[in-house]
Amino acid sequence: MRITIDRDRCIGSGQCAMTAPGVFTQDDDALVTLVPGYEEGTEDPRVHDVPMACPVQAVEIHED
Ligand code: SF4
Repeated sequence: MRITIDRDRCIGSGQCAMTAPGVFTQDDDALVTLVPGYEEGTEDPRVHDVPMACPVQAVEIHED
């Protein structure tokens, strides 16, 4: 699994960090940031809900 984020699309709404805290966070400008170490994915099942939770489709989960 890979997790990709598009910070150019992100509007800082925060659903990603609320849906899967510890994997997604927000920087000082409220833009999405992956917590280091999770670029290659995680066993946390909540990450699969994040693409649908994001209002601007800024998060994609790529299954290997
Ligand atoms: S849910 Fe989407 S728009 Fe909101 S902070 Fe996360 S990536 Fe950005």
